[in-house]
Amino acid sequence: MINVELMDLPTTIRGFVTKSVDDYTIVINSKMSAETQKQTYRHELRHIERGDLDGSGDIDRIEMEMQNVDRENSDGEIQV
Ligand SMILES: [Zn+2]
Repeated sequence: MINVELMDLPTTIRGFVTKSVDDYTIVINSKMSAETQKQTYRHELRHIERGDLDGSGDIDRIEMEMQNVDRENSDGEIQV
């Protein structure tokens, strides 16, 4: 199951995704524009589809493989 939550996050963070057992939660920064929120949602969904959260993967490597054009912030869990 995939949950989506809007959260009031620092503006440097667009969102992130976390996993607990079989549930994923995509957290999206409520401060972002609707368009950015949509992009963030798709981006985080891609992490889930790729199984990026299933191993003990190196997040920086994962982000590099995804060739994000997004500016990514890496303090915290797994972020856009
Ligand atoms: Zn990402």
